[in-house]
Amino acid sequence: MAKLNLPAEGGCRCGRVRLKISAPPLITMACHCTGCQRMSSSAYSLSAAIPAEGFAVTEGEPVIGGLHGATRHYFCSHCMTWMFTRPEGIDFFVNLRPTMLDDPSWFSPFIETFTSEKLPWATTAAVHSYETFPPFEDYEGLVKDYAAQEAAK
Ligand SMILES: [Zn+2]
Ligand SMILES: [Zn+2]
Repeated sequence: MAKLNLPAEGGCRCGRVRLKISAPPLITMACHCTGCQRMSSSAYSLSAAIPAEGFAVTEGEPVIGGLHGATRHYFCSHCMTWMFTRPEGIDFFVNLRPTMLDDPSWFSPFIETFTSEKLPWATTAAVHSYETFPPFEDYEGLVKDYAAQEAAK
């Protein structure tokens, strides 16, 4: 499997917003919820949870979109690409859509969420599947398992 080389750069569809990551993800995800289906215009969204100190917007000014609620979804104001999310009440990581990266070939989702809302045919390579979100107490073990899987690459 391809390995993530850091730092890694990326950007939106039009290139007006560029970003850079300098830390590996804590975990990778696919989300099948209907909100993600709508915002991604696709069957599910993809996320790489990048530690906040390892994430930077290097060019352009992303704007808030989606529901404009407590969870902040960031888009390019010109091409409207959904680029990353800062989840409600969490500031130590940023959920980056990995296909923003110039080379996303290393990415595969380790967990998938909201399979209860998935399109009947939609499947992913996720190792762990959850009907909604994983219970809070599962996260520590999942992050550990993900790190072990990446270390073995
Ligand atoms: Zn753009
Ligand atoms: Zn979702």
